[in-house]
Amino acid sequence: MDQDFGLALPAFPVVVSGPSGVGKTVLCRRLCDSLPRMVRSISATTRPPRPDERDGQSYFFWNETRFRAEIDRGGLAEWAEVHGRLYGTPRSWLDERLAAGESAVLNIDVQGGLQVRTVYPSALLVFLLPPSWGALEARLRGRGTDAEEEIQRRLRNAEREIRVLPRYDAVIMNDRLDEAAVDLISVVHGERSRTSRRIAPGWEPPPRRKG
Ligand code: ADP
Ligand code: 5GP
Repeated sequence: MDQDFGLALPAFPVVVSGPSGVGKTVLCRRLCDSLPRMVRSISATTRPPRPDERDGQSYFFWNETRFRAEIDRGGLAEWAEVHGRLYGTPRSWLDERLAAGESAVLNIDVQGGLQVRTVYPSALLVFLLPPSWGALEARLRGRGTDAEEEIQRRLRNAEREIRVLPRYDAVIMNDRLDEAAVDLISVVHGERSRTSRRIAPGWEPPPRRKG
């Protein structure tokens, strides 16, 4: 909080969506490393961990019974079935971060993104696009984490996901990684500067101290 003028750094959810392989994970990391008070949300999923993934770091790996129980008790801020598995954002963590004045970055699919907009109207929704279908396919293969069948499923889903782009607030093309990172940081930084986010209704400038 700026002591003299009563301007708070606003905290809001930043949703980053886009087709699998577009670069969401790397760009969300860059965003959190570059701006203060930005934290990466850790989702829960029923998908099995990849060899390099640890529970509680990339995801919370839950079985389907646990996941369904969390849905029933309202423990998820949003959830969706993506590529045949369940994914969701733990609600209590998100609410605690926002209450502590931190913006949470959610790397989630478009179904989840639209749910977040309903539950948290202050959310900023950013869509990442690859420069071409060919580049997307090359990145999915280059990442080396998914079998061919899974890659094909993700490419089919991508065609549906991109249709939701017009409902997002901002779109960034991830061609060169460094440039896309600057674009994402700029979009979020700009949004943080909006007067509508920085000042409370009825704001008045403080009297100037004399002498
Ligand atoms: P997502 O989280 O959207 O599925 P990742 O962040 O895992 O995607 O990125 C997929 C792969 O593409 C990774 O190997 C990543 O290093 C690579 N990648 C990301 N952005 C670029 C880029 N601009 N140019 C080339 N490769 C990229
Ligand atoms: P992956 O299996 O590659 O880690 O993620 C697959 C997809 O699930 C990505 O599009 C990712 O954004 C999405 N995803 C990850 N976590 C969540 C979540 O908590 N909610 C929703 N709706 N989607 C998620």
